[in-house]
Amino acid sequence: MNLLGIDVGGTDIDAGIVTETGELKETSSWKTPSTLVEFQGILMEIKEKFPVYHSVGVGVPGLWEEETQTIRFAPNIPFLQEARVGEVVREVFPGARIHNDATVATFGEAFFGNGRGLDNFLMVTLGTGIGGGFFLRSEVPTGARGFAWEVGHIRVNSMGVKCGCGSHGCWETEASVSALVRKYRERTGLSLTGREISKRAREGEKEAQEVFEDVGRWLGVGLASLINVLDPQAVILGGGLSLSFELLREPMLAFLEANSYVYRYSRPKIMPALLLKKAGVVGAAAYGWKGKG
Ligand SMILES: [Zn+2]
Repeated sequence: MNLLGIDVGGTDIDAGIVTETGELKETSSWKTPSTLVEFQGILMEIKEKFPVYHSVGVGVPGLWEEETQTIRFAPNIPFLQEARVGEVVREVFPGARIHNDATVATFGEAFFGNGRGLDNFLMVTLGTGIGGGFFLRSEVPTGARGFAWEVGHIRVNSMGVKCGCGSHGCWETEASVSALVRKYRERTGLSLTGREISKRAREGEKEAQEVFEDVGRWLGVGLASLINVLDPQAVILGGGLSLSFELLREPMLAFLEANSYVYRYSRPKIMPALLLKKAGVVGAAAYGWKGKG
């Protein structure tokens, strides 16, 4: 079975065919355009490249409103905000299912990743920002409008920096890749990528290790509240920062041990995602196959 997945990101649009066992057979990439007409042109090119498919799923950034099938808030892709995205996609792919990138990533882990076989789990994607989803008995409950699980915008630091959502001290200002990069720059004056900071920490650089300890502790702060609320069977961490899971693990677990009594009694397994780089396309394909809408 060919499951077509399309991942719309701030810099690239990736599309690919995934099998019903989660194997990514073929992918292609396009630069994210700046107009809706160009966007529809890319969708038509995707259809030409992958003409044989059983279902189509699309992951989009920002707040996806289910009833109107529009993105209500997407600061990284301004031309898609408030645009007729659902309509435009279905003119090319009738029956396509669309949702927020973190929701589709949750479906990806549920059907093709480390969430397979679980009744429920919390997914947290640690990228430029922090996204999330709670998988519960074959679906992700998405709230009144589709906006649920914006876990990155839980306020964790009342003294924290301003966030893109308009608030201050949100979880993603303390425990995302951007937070890691900012904290390292504040400490050393150097602007490095998350990957470079991770490499330095592994090589034993003290400043890099201390920044990872700080971010790992903040990761624990947000997870402590979420685990107390949800008592999930497992927590799956995706996104770029999950590649450095072992650098975050100890401070995260120490905070949970001391501050989440549900964690102490329930002991949910906390693990990195299986899909990682493929999460966007495979997640979208899983959502197209098993999602709602
Ligand atoms: Zn925020």
